Amino acid sequence: MASLQEQVTTLEPEEAVAPNWSQMGCSICLEPFVDVGHSLPCGHMYHLHCIERVQESVPYYRGSANCPTCREPFPIGMPEEEDIPALLRPWITQPIRKIFLRPSADEDLCDKLDKLSKNVVELERHREALVKHCQEIHKTLSQKDAENLSLKEAAARHRREQRENLVVRAKMSQDNSELIRRQSSVSRKHKDHHDKKPRITSLKKVVFTYNPMGMASDSTLVSPSAAAGCKESQSVDESEDYEME
Ligand SMILES: [Zn+2]
Ligand SMILES: [Zn+2]
Repeated sequence: MASLQEQVTTLEPEEAVAPNWSQMGCSICLEPFVDVGHSLPCGHMYHLHCIERVQESVPYYRGSANCPTCREPFPIGMPEEEDIPALLRPWITQPIRKIFLRPSADEDLCDKLDKLSKNVVELERHREALVKHCQEIHKTLSQKDAENLSLKEAAARHRREQRENLVVRAKMSQDNSELIRRQSSVSRKHKDHHDKKPRITSLKKVVFTYNPMGMASDSTLVSPSAAAGCKESQSVDESEDYEME
């Protein structure tokens, strides 16, 4: 049966991470390993009791034995750990090292692979949902952008109208001031006109009093009723004067 080293070196890299430990066995007794094996410095692996038999078969004074597979010597009769100074212990490696094989590693890896595959499917589903969600968000954002644009246009239009309204209001205020000015001017003239009227009437009365015989050349001064006509005539003249202004 091939050793661990031979198996590992003939495996493809992706298979080397999980060699089929259950097919491996000890090359001394040809029995398979269960959970652990014991490796020599050369890398060949045996049952502990098998390699101990190899050690015991060698006289102690020789100080080393040979690997049954490759004849590489390995030390025997190592001192006990408590006999070695604590400072040096980390630097001392026992020639026979325990190797944990875990024959269920393949099944564990298959389970892990199944779980990972399920995770991948689940993640793919989440990814599709996220993509859909992102598309909806993009759609909403573009709608909002369009609404914002129309709102900005409306605001600009409103500001423009506001400016135009201000101009119109200023013009109206100016016109209003002009109207008030004209109105006060008219009121003043109207008042002046009313102030003049009694004076003219009294003058006419005076003229009429001093022509008792009705001999005046002006027919309007003949009678009091004619004097009233004169008043009207005078009034028309006054209004004409106002119109001239
Ligand atoms: Zn064995
Ligand atoms: Zn060997």
